[in-house]
Amino acid sequence: MFNDYKSFILQKPDKRLRQVCLKVTNFKEAKEIADKLIEITKKVDGPLKISLGMAAPQVGYDKRVIILRKSQGEYTVMVNPKIVKQKWNLPIFSRCFSVDGVFIIKSPYWIKIEYQDLQGNYNSEVLRGVKAVTLQQEIDHINGVLISDIGLRLL
Ligand SMILES: [Zn+2]
Repeated sequence: MFNDYKSFILQKPDKRLRQVCLKVTNFKEAKEIADKLIEITKKVDGPLKISLGMAAPQVGYDKRVIILRKSQGEYTVMVNPKIVKQKWNLPIFSRCFSVDGVFIIKSPYWIKIEYQDLQGNYNSEVLRGVKAVTLQQEIDHINGVLISDIGLRLL
């Protein structure tokens, strides 16, 4: 049951996880991608509520769209996200739905991000702690980078 997510989310070494995603210009397509990300995240979330975020390549799209968990059942959609400032690089345990194992990685704990919403409006936000770590991982995904490239596998 728990390994069920592997039938919805692309797994390493799928080549589609390695593409550098393209900038979104078609916001109708961005909406379609966001809907798919949210649908699959809810499906795999289960009672543990472990999914904090997901990126377009994990569900087979090559566009710069990510989602981040805001609160239970609610997600922030970020289109064309761009890190404008980051700090507090520290080690943390982390995992990814697309890669087996638990890793220790080094990640910023503070990120200022600029992104567009699904209407194309520009927003900026500051994220701290686990949310910043998750955001960094989703940004890595849309650049074709996986947790196994930057981390040390422990389990
Ligand atoms: Zn991931």
